[in-house]
Amino acid sequence: MPARREKLKDLPVVGHKRVILAAPRGYCAGVDRAVIAVEKALANYGAPIYVRKQIVHNVHVVTTLEAQGAIFVDEVDEVPEGSTVVFSAHGVSPAVVKAAADRELHAIDATCPLVTKVHREATRFARDNYQILLIGHDGHEEVEGTMGHAPERTILVNSPADVPNIVVENTDNLVWLSQTTLSVDETMETVRLLRERFPTLQDPPSDDICYATQNRQVAIKKVAGEAELVIVVGSANSSNTVRLVDVSLENGAKAAYRVDYASEIKQEWLDGVSTVGVTSGASVPEVLVQEVLADLADAGYGDVSSVVTAEEDLMFSLPKELRTDAAGNPDERGLGGRNRKLDWQ
Ligand code: SF4
Repeated sequence: MPARREKLKDLPVVGHKRVILAAPRGYCAGVDRAVIAVEKALANYGAPIYVRKQIVHNVHVVTTLEAQGAIFVDEVDEVPEGSTVVFSAHGVSPAVVKAAADRELHAIDATCPLVTKVHREATRFARDNYQILLIGHDGHEEVEGTMGHAPERTILVNSPADVPNIVVENTDNLVWLSQTTLSVDETMETVRLLRERFPTLQDPPSDDICYATQNRQVAIKKVAGEAELVIVVGSANSSNTVRLVDVSLENGAKAAYRVDYASEIKQEWLDGVSTVGVTSGASVPEVLVQEVLADLADAGYGDVSSVVTAEEDLMFSLPKELRTDAAGNPDERGLGGRNRKLDWQ
């Protein structure tokens, strides 16, 4: 955690200072499940537990789990043979699963079930001889995992700007899929342009952009229209977090900034600002948002109201290896645990 800077100053502005807090925000069911998976693996098997890639894209979560005995690696060949490795929420390709098996690792798959759904779609469409246009960001772990399920059949589309350059041999069997954490509006624009070029393009069987990404974008859209400044809590490599900054700016916020920690808020961001919007990405523990609210209160923004656009109660079962405790008894957190209270979350 970075060193704290001096308290923000309570400087005068025209109008009443206030904060509008977007809801839903923060942890989604897939992130909650993945973080619990690492905690339970540590409890059941003991440290160290290896995790391929960051379990979720959040600095605070990763450093907290490291302190508990998790070791994060880039690839499974860095994991000692026979050790336990957890695959991150962003998912893996079949090649990674095979590499782990070849090293006789005890692999626990914490891939979000909504990412697994996209993997299954890619596998099925490839089997049925479709060409897949995957809308997503080059180099993102989720995209690498999804492409790995249909490597011969998938073309990556990074953005609307890519559309004119795409070469498709057979447009008869053509379908688009997407990364789960994209901007809904930009993705729909990409699809519109793709369909102009390829009128036979088929839609996915259901939305690939997940409920959590969509809900957080809908909520911040409502807040952004009233806010001169939006603060988005989350890490730079978190796709859905960065999209919340983009969506804020596209929907009326005069400025929007991403911070990992409250201490990153700069005094000058608040110059002349009466209304601050606050939200957080799907991998962000609520404690970090509460720290932002405390610092904003120091600066006179103690009046906090919420804009609630959806209620979320989705929970996912833990990976099957973790549905019991170390003694083999059924674990009461086996169905997830969104109600658990740990002081760092
Ligand atoms: S953001 Fe969506 S896809 Fe990613 S872990 Fe959360 S629910 Fe799953």
